[in-house]
Amino acid sequence: MISYEEALARVLRNARPLSSVRVRLEDALGCYLAENIRAREPVPLFNQSAMDGFGVRASDVAETRADSPARLRVAGMVRAGDDPRRPLRSGTAVRIFTGAKVPPGVQAVVVQESCEMAGGEVLVRESVPAGKNIRRKGEEIRRGARVLSAGTRITPPVIGLLATLGYSSFLVHRKPRVTLLVTGNELVALGRPLRPGRIRDSNSHALAAALKDTGIEEVAVRRVRDDASSLRQALMAALQDSDFVLTSGGVSVGEYDLVKDAALSAGVRTVFWKVAMKPGMPNYFGVWDRGSRRARASGKKAAPGKTLLFGLPGNPVSALVSYHQFVRPALLKMSGQRASPRFVFPVALEKDVNKRAGRAEFVRGVVRVNNGALCVVPTDQQGSHMLSGLASANCLIHLASEATLVEHGQQVPVELLSWEMHGK
Ligand code: AMP
Ligand code: MG
Repeated sequence: MISYEEALARVLRNARPLSSVRVRLEDALGCYLAENIRAREPVPLFNQSAMDGFGVRASDVAETRADSPARLRVAGMVRAGDDPRRPLRSGTAVRIFTGAKVPPGVQAVVVQESCEMAGGEVLVRESVPAGKNIRRKGEEIRRGARVLSAGTRITPPVIGLLATLGYSSFLVHRKPRVTLLVTGNELVALGRPLRPGRIRDSNSHALAAALKDTGIEEVAVRRVRDDASSLRQALMAALQDSDFVLTSGGVSVGEYDLVKDAALSAGVRTVFWKVAMKPGMPNYFGVWDRGSRRARASGKKAAPGKTLLFGLPGNPVSALVSYHQFVRPALLKMSGQRASPRFVFPVALEKDVNKRAGRAEFVRGVVRVNNGALCVVPTDQQGSHMLSGLASANCLIHLASEATLVEHGQQVPVELLSWEMHGK
């Protein structure tokens, strides 16, 4: 059995950014840039006023004080969007507004709170140095500078920056196409009658939602019986049609746990099976080469490349936690993310926690602020089948493999659950 850290490293090593596609700005939120973005124009585009006030020559207000104001003739007005051409003469000022282009000769802007209109004149009660309250052309971004690097996630401010620079379309990485195969003869689809011994299938809904939360748009969900040949057939088709295949259930050691055998018979190369972690021990991960002889022999032509296969355990909490800890980082890397997806920070534990040495544990917890300090407490329902314990959590407490008793007051690494980032 391998460690969680080793398993994650192997998953990420096999997850490669997908090819690039051009997207329109309005469709780009949540994508990752596949090109570096340069400024085709400087920002700001021209010298502009940062305030509502009066444009002046610095020398005209050099001696000015609150009790001995400079008296300047108001020579005109410039609003945002105007293109003033007439140079400012000495002894005059120009009424100017925030964002307006600064006329030639204007060296500074005095805020209107320091000025007083008197007929066609203005009394200026503040001395300002040259450059005051003027946003200089190119002061934020020079023309030709690299503004955004490939791998940047497109967020609302990035969208704003791209629009500022005039980019209505650009290259991003293609998002992975995912097939979710849900196994289990005991499962009943929502809305169908339950018979004794059967349960409702929750994983297809929870995992489809998790994929949506990760920004994956193309998801096919298929339910398969615990039967070797149906599973093999469904898996072959999924491997051909997808960049990533996710299975739910059937990866443990029981006689009806057929996913690993189906994968082997489809020609998937096993990278690992079983990880020293809780929940999620039986996780399976493998790689399928779409250009292999086996793949070609299967009939249908698939685009060359590799399909990743991740076998999640059927227990609903194990499935979602393993999704969060392995599948999400892999899908984001395939989508073009370059930085480490981990954001783990230390928080004081509010309760003793016992664990067995030899496996990492991801304890479902609630992190909150108490008297100005962060603290975290495990949720009550910690079973791998207890979705309520995960639904009420906002974080996973990472307990290291070698840890046994972790005591009240100790600092423990905590990771927010991605789908909880919006708050409860
Ligand atoms: P398995 O990994 O297939 O051995 O399943 C482990 C446990 O998870 C069993 O109690 C299953 O009934 C349950 N389970 C498996 N798949 C699902 C599912 N799609 N929805 C809800 N529970 C499931
Ligand atoms: Mg099963």
